[in-house]
Amino acid sequence: MQYIISTLGCKVNQYESQAIENLLMERGHICAVPGEHADAVIVNTCAVTGESGRKSRQLIRRLMDENPGAVIAVCGCYSQLSPDEVSAIGADVVFGSGDKVKFIDAIERAVSEGEKTSSIDDPFKRKLLEILPAGAVSGRTRAMLKIQDGCANFCSYCIIPYTRGRLRSLPLKDASEETQRLRDSGFKEVVLTGIEIASYGADLPGRPSLADVICEVASNAGDMRIRLGSLEPTVITEAFCRRLAETEKLCRHFHLSLQSGCDRTLKAMNRKYDTAEFYEKVLMLRDYFPNCGITCDLITGFPGETDTDHQDTLEFIKKCAFSAMHVFPYSRRPGTPADKMPEQCTNAVKAARAKEASAVAEKMKKAFLDAQIGRSLPVLFESRESDNVCSGHSDNYLLVCVEGSHLKGEIRQVRIMQRKDEILYGVID
Ligand code: SF4
Repeated sequence: MQYIISTLGCKVNQYESQAIENLLMERGHICAVPGEHADAVIVNTCAVTGESGRKSRQLIRRLMDENPGAVIAVCGCYSQLSPDEVSAIGADVVFGSGDKVKFIDAIERAVSEGEKTSSIDDPFKRKLLEILPAGAVSGRTRAMLKIQDGCANFCSYCIIPYTRGRLRSLPLKDASEETQRLRDSGFKEVVLTGIEIASYGADLPGRPSLADVICEVASNAGDMRIRLGSLEPTVITEAFCRRLAETEKLCRHFHLSLQSGCDRTLKAMNRKYDTAEFYEKVLMLRDYFPNCGITCDLITGFPGETDTDHQDTLEFIKKCAFSAMHVFPYSRRPGTPADKMPEQCTNAVKAARAKEASAVAEKMKKAFLDAQIGRSLPVLFESRESDNVCSGHSDNYLLVCVEGSHLKGEIRQVRIMQRKDEILYGVID
């Protein structure tokens, strides 16, 4: 079977698509080259916002038009939520965000026997994490390892708990085995990802913590360094920081889900902390991990957010001095409590506030970049920019270029000499 796979959404979706590809290749199937006939078109969808639902439908239709006669197989969070809409578009195989192995079985049956399947489970009934082969696109230096799925936080703007279901974690033994496999495959960095990794282990016997699995991975990682996916700030405690500060393989980069810098808005979002607690954790991270990169997600124009609330948020992000930010104008998601809230902001207000926050973020990023000049940073080289320039990311997640050619896949200390726009330039130390 020749297949095409196309993915929307988060790191977990990227990971699962990579795992689907690994399983298809293990079964002898081949990825169709662009323009070549495909027997099966696989679309992994996203539903995090109303907009991503629209993009999922659009992608399915486009790939159907481009691949007449191919089996159309759809999975992911959008088809988990709206399987009938996906079937109505014309998909032959419709699965949700779980059961990836059964999904592939159904695709094979559809291609060989023309059998159509629609199989949507109840994500709240899922008990175990489906262990899928970790990995990355060949030739990459960085791999992902999914250690957790599901979420029990029910933030008022988020649909994910309804599409991903209850908390499920990768047992420590499987985490170390997968780490060994990635190490032996030559990867130099592993990103621990999940839907809400701060809740890692809450479902496992003995309730191992996120710090436990990070240390388990570290003890099997060889010379691979470890990067953490997005973190709920609640996981940042003295004990967590002290333990991780002893793990020398951990990248000094923490991506925290902030969402707002105003306590009234955080409450309306059903977030589990206030700005004072969040700031305390930022200071704690800087204390245990000097010069670490602290990045965050922010939503602007949440229902009920006033101009004053927005100004509070701008002041708060300046106080935190993030090294980078992802800023999202609030996007209504049918099926979430926030979608029904009064005082919805106009798109113009959401966009204007996002623009203002992004301008602050850009200034803070440049200040953090400038503060690196003269320092020596460990950089994992990932690609060659030109004949004699290689680039990679530092452990505190900055893009760094040096003169050199055959550095790909190596972690080298780089003395930072200058910044051009958002790129640092340096020399091998
Ligand atoms: S923590 Fe909140 S925003 Fe993140 S997946 Fe869970 S409900 Fe959604």
